[in-house]
Amino acid sequence: MVNKLKSRPVFVGALVLALLALTVFANDWPQAPTADDMLADDTVSDAIDDAWDDSDAGDKDKRHEEGGWILWCRQQHGSEWQYSFKVVRVASGGRSGITPGNPPEQENCRVVGFFHTHPNPPTDEDGDNWEQGPSESDNNWHNRHKIPGVVRNASGNETFGPERGYYE
Ligand SMILES: [Zn+2]
Repeated sequence: MVNKLKSRPVFVGALVLALLALTVFANDWPQAPTADDMLADDTVSDAIDDAWDDSDAGDKDKRHEEGGWILWCRQQHGSEWQYSFKVVRVASGGRSGITPGNPPEQENCRVVGFFHTHPNPPTDEDGDNWEQGPSESDNNWHNRHKIPGVVRNASGNETFGPERGYYE
């Protein structure tokens, strides 16, 4: 009897530790989504379509790059987290370049991607040729920050960079 009473606090302690571990685990962010996961989402694909429209690709004097951060946000419903994408556009870029700047910081959201447009046609009105896919500096930037990228050009969306990841 005495032994049983003594062992109880140990048992309760172990239970508290187990619950604590479970809580910490449940608050962990799961594996980040891929660029294909993002493109399959209406919020993201609509935002990329809008950015393409805003790029004035059809106007040889006004065409310029547009882009935005892709965030993954979560809300708690009971004991479950529900995840959804959000897009935060950045300031308009130039004819062949855009500056992401600092990533947005929003509560319960993490940056999981960045997209931008390449509005110049393969060969423009002056006969100049333009890279359609991600440039070397696009690739370097995405690899450095460990997030997938999407380039939107006249032919559609092209994914590149890391398979998945959270911005670093
Ligand atoms: Zn680019």
